[in-house]
Amino acid sequence: MKRWMLGIGAAAGAAAAGVAVARARRQAVDRALLSRQLQRVDSAHGRNIVILGAGFAGTTATAELIRRLPPASGWTVTLVDRHNYFLFTPLLYHAATGLVDPSAILYPTRALSSASNYVFREATVQAIDPRRQVVFLDDGQLSYDYLVLGLGSVTNFFGKEDDLRHALVLKTAGDAIAMRNRIIDAFEEADICEDPAERRRLLTFVVVGGGATGIELMGAMRGLIRGTLAQQYRRIAPEEIRLVLLEALPEVLPGISRDLASYAVERLRALGIDVGLETPVERVDQDGLVTAGGEFIASRTIVWAAGVRPSPLAGHLDAPTIRNGRIQVNDYLQVEQFKNFFAAGDIAAVEDAETGKVLPPNAAIAVQQGKALAQIILACLQNREPPPFCYHHKGEMVSLGRHEAVAEVKGVRVTGFPAWIMWRGFYLTQLMGFKNRLTVMLDWTFSYLNQRDTVRLEMPCSPFEDEPAGELEDAVSSGSPEPR
Ligand SMILES: Cc1cc2nc3c(=O)[nH]c(=O)nc-3n(C[C@H](O)[C@H](O)[C@H](O)COP(=O)(O)OP(=O)(O)OC[C@H]3O[C@@H](n4cnc5c(N)ncnc54)[C@H](O)[C@@H]3O)c2cc1C
Repeated sequence: MKRWMLGIGAAAGAAAAGVAVARARRQAVDRALLSRQLQRVDSAHGRNIVILGAGFAGTTATAELIRRLPPASGWTVTLVDRHNYFLFTPLLYHAATGLVDPSAILYPTRALSSASNYVFREATVQAIDPRRQVVFLDDGQLSYDYLVLGLGSVTNFFGKEDDLRHALVLKTAGDAIAMRNRIIDAFEEADICEDPAERRRLLTFVVVGGGATGIELMGAMRGLIRGTLAQQYRRIAPEEIRLVLLEALPEVLPGISRDLASYAVERLRALGIDVGLETPVERVDQDGLVTAGGEFIASRTIVWAAGVRPSPLAGHLDAPTIRNGRIQVNDYLQVEQFKNFFAAGDIAAVEDAETGKVLPPNAAIAVQQGKALAQIILACLQNREPPPFCYHHKGEMVSLGRHEAVAEVKGVRVTGFPAWIMWRGFYLTQLMGFKNRLTVMLDWTFSYLNQRDTVRLEMPCSPFEDEPAGELEDAVSSGSPEPR
């Protein structure tokens, strides 16, 4: 028996060594290719590094490049985004549920650096022509020497957009405000409604998706609904309120250890949330939702948090894409068939060197890739060997609501209040800007001691995100005079 196990161990060791050798060989080939391409660029006309998307990957890469490339280097770093701010998504639920002011999780991208070689352009990217090294924007064009694609992801409706279009989503600051308003409106309407069935519909709140986003959102919604609104609306009895979390798979929280995931489900149930596992949702309309099993749940507020897919622009590049449409990059985060073209964050499919699996879309990974990209580009500019990207997993943390969280950091598992404090402490330090950190800390303290903010904020927004890719072919084929 022991020999058999030894045999397996030796075979596994040999296989791992084989994978490592193959990987090292591939990296050497990629590195040589990258160096050749970058040398060619160095002698070309311009010196512009263009970064598309001021999200986690884009702002990290920009800040790092600007810090290391002084204006005297002759290089300009141009950051492009359709919004003039960076959105700190991990606290988006807090903005959606009156825990923090929405502006406290936004940071103005123009304030990222005062260096004269940093340029921010507020524009929507409509297309990219990698052969001519041109980016087409809604208000003009940009030529580049190096391009970093960090346009992130959009909500994934798994092809059922028409059936699910009445669901709310949570991806932007506008979505957060729309959700907060919808919850408050539901209470306002229920307050004056005499029909018990309609009251029940108005006071049933559903989140679809048992990943970290769905669970954290449900935890935060519970705090607003049961903690603040149930007290402010005295004609509504707490038993009339129903909170539901639905997940299509048999388990929640993929990517976290199974006992922590089971603990999370247990705690959510103990907090009065109906958790339905193996319950895919087929349709959402104004009256409620229908599950794959045919069950109808009447609800006015249904949030779709069941997954993301890469920015639609990824599908319009002539690049090989893999699972879920993400752009395949090599160990240097380079899109191999295009010169000087890199991708990072949710839009890029990057393999974990240790497991060989594609890394999931999350902010921590996007930040690490943004930093790595800056180093790769700088190394190439300085004719040094670029270091390959290597992901370092630091852990997972999921908040379940007030005083409740689960965390797994460097193999150590923490639950309950200590995990909740860790969660808050960690995200507070990750926020961009002193003013935002201070505002969030004050908002948290105030809502902890008092009630949450239930002011209805007016803001136009749409539940669906802009998908500029439809205009892509026109923009590329029509071309236009000389890019800037
Ligand atoms: C509600 C919510 C909570 C989350 N919580 C966590 C968490 O706690 N921890 C965690 O690790 N991850 C979390 N995530 C995931 C995390 O936000 C993403 O993985 C991360 O933002 C990806 O970074 P990115 O740089 O690839 O894209 P993003 O940060 O999404 O940035 C993409 C940028 O591109 C811009 N853009 C997109 N298309 C265009 C266009 N056509 N033209 C111009 N600009 C464009 C967008 O405006 C955006 O600024 C959460 C996500 C959501 C939605």
